[in-house]
Amino acid sequence: MKLKRLELIGFKSFYDKTTFDFSEGISTIVGPNGCGKSNIVDAIRWVLGEHAPSYVRSKALEDVIFAGSDAAGPLGMAEVTLTFVNDDGNAPPGYESYVEISVTRRTYRDGESEFLINRMPCRLKDIAEPFLDMGAGARGYAIVQQGKVGEFAKAKPDENRLIIEEAAGGTLF
Ligand code: ATP
Repeated sequence: MKLKRLELIGFKSFYDKTTFDFSEGISTIVGPNGCGKSNIVDAIRWVLGEHAPSYVRSKALEDVIFAGSDAAGPLGMAEVTLTFVNDDGNAPPGYESYVEISVTRRTYRDGESEFLINRMPCRLKDIAEPFLDMGAGARGYAIVQQGKVGEFAKAKPDENRLIIEEAAGGTLF
């Protein structure tokens, strides 16, 4: 499975609907400090089920909703959709026959969250478990945030254990 597209609306600094298409090979996002590059990584973690605000650099989960700017007032909902292309038959169980698999998370100011796979409502568990198994879970080794490479390199062996266990698929047990 490969990342194909990320769509954001009302998530952090993304007031307008914004789509990132990831083509073959490596995609790079460049921009000045504070323009929202790390918000994109936060969106990927969040849509894959992250439930701890600190892991998406927020104080409370509703802080991921666009809070307003000079140009626009606050929004009441944030929505992120991540689309994978199933090009290697490695899709989560039950989705092997789909060419594309999209995962959506929506949240409102009252704290309510909705999860969808291919636009059909599902449970957080239905997203978190299969994608964790693929190494793409919200805290998976496959998403390496700014500054984390240095942290891994400096970590003590027992601190690196979690990363190794996740790569080996051991974190599900
Ligand atoms: P750096 O290069 O410094 O790491 P960056 O490009 O990664 O920065 P981010 O940290 O992703 O930038 O984005 C920070 C911006 O997102 C700030 O301008 C902040 O005000 C804005 N932001 C974060 N949360 C919200 C929110 N809920 N509503 C509106 N804007 C937000």
